[in-house]
Amino acid sequence: MPDAKFLEEYSLYQKFDFDFGKNSFLFPITIVDLPDVNLNMYCPNCNEIRTFRLTHKYNHKKEKDVVIKIFKPPPPPTLEENDLVNLNYICAYCEKFHRFFAIKMGKGLKTIEKVGQFPAWDINIEKTLKKILKGYSEYYKKGKTCEFHSYGIGAFAYYRRIVEDIIGQLLESITDLMSGEELEKYQVALEEVRKTKTATKKIALVKDLLPLILKPEQFNPLKTLHDALSKGLHGRTDTECLEDAESISTSLVFLVDAVLSQKKGQQKYTESMKKILEKQRKKVIKDEKQQDKKIVEERAKVKKVIRDEKTKRNSLEEETVAERKK
Ligand SMILES: [Zn+2]
Repeated sequence: MPDAKFLEEYSLYQKFDFDFGKNSFLFPITIVDLPDVNLNMYCPNCNEIRTFRLTHKYNHKKEKDVVIKIFKPPPPPTLEENDLVNLNYICAYCEKFHRFFAIKMGKGLKTIEKVGQFPAWDINIEKTLKKILKGYSEYYKKGKTCEFHSYGIGAFAYYRRIVEDIIGQLLESITDLMSGEELEKYQVALEEVRKTKTATKKIALVKDLLPLILKPEQFNPLKTLHDALSKGLHGRTDTECLEDAESISTSLVFLVDAVLSQKKGQQKYTESMKKILEKQRKKVIKDEKQQDKKIVEERAKVKKVIRDEKTKRNSLEEETVAERKK
């Protein structure tokens, strides 16, 4: 399929930009033009993250034609808008566990979306999380379920609730990873944190004091949490909330896992953490790009205003001169 991330992480009905015709001179576009990619997903049989390879793909709507043309080999079915394509995957290691995806072709074959998936959703980092989430793992599961169905508002609300309830404990546990001057500064801020009620304010107090070990490759999970939580739910759409819900859950999971694994003396991040870091890195790059685009647009706007002002002034001057000549 076009992109492993799309199959591994996208929610149902979340649109993924993929222009089939963009890089292809081949028309019509057929199912063969769908690139086959391997996936890295959890296999319950192996109890590990494994590589999944594509076993076969087929286009439902065209199966009828295939049957009709049974006497001569049919050409590969053409892909059209609203077509449904099934992708079957198998764990490359045990060759026992299967995964199925149903993909729908979007308008003008410019987007695709998942309309079905089996098994439904993995919460494969649950084991680590459970330790610290304890009574909140149910909320986490519900948040994940909302995320999977693209109910961004619901997902955001569940994750925010978890953060609100555990942030105090989490911020306290970070002190174990610090020493010397760094720890002193952090503890001063922590005194203020204890007096503060809202999660966003608590995070704001310490977000710039995180130890380097919790800011790999310059990503600050507390800053990401803070930015996402500050936006709140009010007046925002499901789609808008979905992205921030994702940021909240990934930052939270990252922090919890990093604190736990550092305490255990494990230097290595787990596979799922690597994925989260990569996701955050891509998100930061995307945000930066959007920021740059905004700055360029703002500058262009200012330039236009200045230009318009000049034109107005010039024409006014011309009018005055003309008036005087009269
Ligand atoms: Zn397996």
